[in-house]
Amino acid sequence: MAKTVDRRTFLKAATATTAAVYGVRAFPAPAADKALMAVTTPLATFPYADVQLLDGPMKRQFEENHALFLNLDDDRLLKVFRQVAGLPAPGEDMGGWYDLTGFSLTRNDFHGFIAGHTFGQYVSGLARACAVTGSEATRAKVRRLVKGYAETLDPKAKFFVDYRLPAYTYDKLSCGLIDAHEFVHDPMAMDVHEKLTRAMVAYLPEKALSRAEQRSRPHKDTSYTWDESYTLPENLFLAYQRSGKTFYRDMAKSYLEDDTYFGPLSQGNNVLPFEHAYSHVNAFSSAMQAYITLGSDMHLRAAREGFNMLETTQSFATGGWGPDEAFGEPGRGQLGDSLASTHASFETPCGAYGHFKITRYLLRVTKDAHFGDSMERVLYNTILGAWPIQADGTSFYYSDYATTGKKGWHRDKWPCCSGTFPQLAADYHISTYLRASDGVYVNLFTPSSVSWTDGGGKYGLTQQTKYPLENKVQIQVSGSQPSDYTIYVRIPGWTTSEAILSVNGKRASGPVQPGTFAAIPRTWKDGDRVELELPMPLRLEPVDANHPNLVALMRGPLVLFAVADSQPAFEKAELLRAQSANNAVGDSIATSAEGKPISMRPFMSINGESYSTYVRLKS
Ligand SMILES: [Zn+2]
Repeated sequence: MAKTVDRRTFLKAATATTAAVYGVRAFPAPAADKALMAVTTPLATFPYADVQLLDGPMKRQFEENHALFLNLDDDRLLKVFRQVAGLPAPGEDMGGWYDLTGFSLTRNDFHGFIAGHTFGQYVSGLARACAVTGSEATRAKVRRLVKGYAETLDPKAKFFVDYRLPAYTYDKLSCGLIDAHEFVHDPMAMDVHEKLTRAMVAYLPEKALSRAEQRSRPHKDTSYTWDESYTLPENLFLAYQRSGKTFYRDMAKSYLEDDTYFGPLSQGNNVLPFEHAYSHVNAFSSAMQAYITLGSDMHLRAAREGFNMLETTQSFATGGWGPDEAFGEPGRGQLGDSLASTHASFETPCGAYGHFKITRYLLRVTKDAHFGDSMERVLYNTILGAWPIQADGTSFYYSDYATTGKKGWHRDKWPCCSGTFPQLAADYHISTYLRASDGVYVNLFTPSSVSWTDGGGKYGLTQQTKYPLENKVQIQVSGSQPSDYTIYVRIPGWTTSEAILSVNGKRASGPVQPGTFAAIPRTWKDGDRVELELPMPLRLEPVDANHPNLVALMRGPLVLFAVADSQPAFEKAELLRAQSANNAVGDSIATSAEGKPISMRPFMSINGESYSTYVRLKS
């Protein structure tokens, strides 16, 4: 028989030959189930396993979260579900928000606030950590938790009878089960998900309800009349993409809060004021999934407009937003006023989780470096300064931007923020690099590596940096053969035109423009080096237009917090002359109006000391 060469073999051989001479031309296309999505985004995330964080604060947070939840007793996690199901329920109570009883608004007691509310998030965080590390112990734990939960789930999901916030907890269970399926390949997870979802219909409203609509409806539990049905579509669209079952897609559509939220936002109508902050930022991700799954441009516009309103009218210099978990009316100086009225300035792990999700979606769709800038601002000034969750559930919750603030623990154990923190720390991996059809986008600067394969070849980038405490980033290229692709490097909007990007010690020929991704197309060879040097001039950002003399000192992406027992005042020129202390915590030293040297310190280096996020300018 004559030997035939089919077209695919021929193309493979041709590619290999070309590769040897010119480099591989194709960058592997992102794997996605396109059939179930209307839109393929220009950028995609890498699989969690393809990115590894190297020694640094992001890796530390990821490992702390992974270890804590891996070691948390299964019986305790499953206890409330078993109790309601009438099954043997060994193990200690979790405590805090997680338990079945105790809640009383009149007694201001949040013990037992939302039983089992974070279970799905802990499963999700573990599943994502398993995807990163391949840990067999983590895989086994996720499978045990899904199985244990399934044993408590009856066809009517009786757990949710008279339950305070059914949509809120269902959304998190949904996410955990989707992630157990996706990242642990749990064989039961999507069946459990479907059984739960079909039962939940009885407990959910017929559509997404705004808080105002909910308040106007009679409810048995008059102590707490809000729920977050408007955040459901994101996970329902994901369930549709994973399972192909159209009832998820139809259900997702019915919970898009179009009439009172996405519709007005898409027309540039700022309806954020007085809404609950985190859940309404989280809802932007539902709008993004409506765009990706259905191709709805209105929802993309809503998310972009809404995010822009968030940044321009609700955000502090840290990137955090929503003092007292609420949005205020623009133009009234509400952010500056909040410094005198609250210590609950930004719901940090949840807010940062939602912020990472929406900026990652918008970056994938727009390739606009601005969303990377926004993500890193929140990273360095909020979540990387959060204390680790303690073994008993004691958690960091609010960042404090009050006139004089301090870090502190939340009063109640196992709050919402203990659920989002492990999810976010795993998501650091998929936020650092993104992939395009022609190359790789370096979005965050942090010690890390990314790797991919193409046509049998292995390729990768490894970053070493002390950024943002230092302003240099080194990227080492590896590759089993020369390969043609483009490395895109984010040039932050706050830097200057003096930013230097070089390859093997020679300045890159293309433009290096702040606020864009600089493109370096090249036949990359093993051992090539990319170096980035970003000038980080000091600058001031007022808290809002109504308080022009309350300013944050910024260096690159970092807010520098004034370490002092009361809010210091500065001459403007003196503050902008702050000098690096050259210490390990990244201090700058500025001289106050009273002639005192003040340490200006990044949030991630602050521990128990009092600080002012905003200082006064002497006018
Ligand atoms: Zn929270």
